[in-house]
Amino acid sequence: MILEVMKTTGLPTLLGIPFDGYSSYLRGAGDAPPKIREALRCDASNSWSESGVDLGVAGGYGDAGDLAFAEKDAFAAIKAGVGELIEQGKRPVSLGGDHSITYPIVKAFARRYPELTIFHFDAHPDLYDEFEGNRLSHACPFARIMEAGLAKRLVQMGIRTINRHQREQAQRFGVEVVEMQGLPAYEKLKVAGPVYITFDMDVLDPAFAPGVSHREPGGMSVREAIAHLHAIEGEIVGADLVEYNPVRDVAGVTATVAAKVVKEILGKMIAG
Ligand code: MN
Ligand code: MN
Repeated sequence: MILEVMKTTGLPTLLGIPFDGYSSYLRGAGDAPPKIREALRCDASNSWSESGVDLGVAGGYGDAGDLAFAEKDAFAAIKAGVGELIEQGKRPVSLGGDHSITYPIVKAFARRYPELTIFHFDAHPDLYDEFEGNRLSHACPFARIMEAGLAKRLVQMGIRTINRHQREQAQRFGVEVVEMQGLPAYEKLKVAGPVYITFDMDVLDPAFAPGVSHREPGGMSVREAIAHLHAIEGEIVGADLVEYNPVRDVAGVTATVAAKVVKEILGKMIAG
């Protein structure tokens, strides 16, 4: 099936966010954005998504480059940078970076979309109230997002590290947690209204994606991840892909996987 490229809403626009300052275990994710772009444009593959969209067509998606910021003011810069793209009528697709960036990103989205549903792909719930004394840690973004009421719904997919504290946090915030052992769960991905996708690369099994800081066995295959992304219904207003860590990669294989995931998300956004 070949779908005609049509812009149902704003132009999907890449934005690199090279920030790994709130990683708890290893740095390196801040070097990811140019490597993901390079893999996305690599001649080893063509520009078509599996859903039948040619991303190579001019005007299919944009690229706003990488955000520049001082580490001290990173979150303010991220919120402002993403907010600016939203104001311009674009749909930002952020390339992280560690997962802490999703909090300031969603702050920017919540101003425009108060009824946001977040689909969160991750091995980890990232719901800690604080982690090693840092409430902005990449282990905490969804606690901050939910306690501030920035999303109407948070649906987590592929979780396989939940502990007592995070289970309590999930209950407290009404988070819909789909654990890895509960997949497939395509029906959970069908909603009306604006959708934001946040894709942590460690939702994938480390056999497919070793280039992450926190390798957690027993995860999704690339095929399972794509099948769940394709099952999403609702208007995708933005997305991020985080936690690709080039320092941990093996022969660039995880960069290729990250680019594939971005390609399928962009394809969904363009086709509408
Ligand atoms: Mn995460
Ligand atoms: Mn994770």
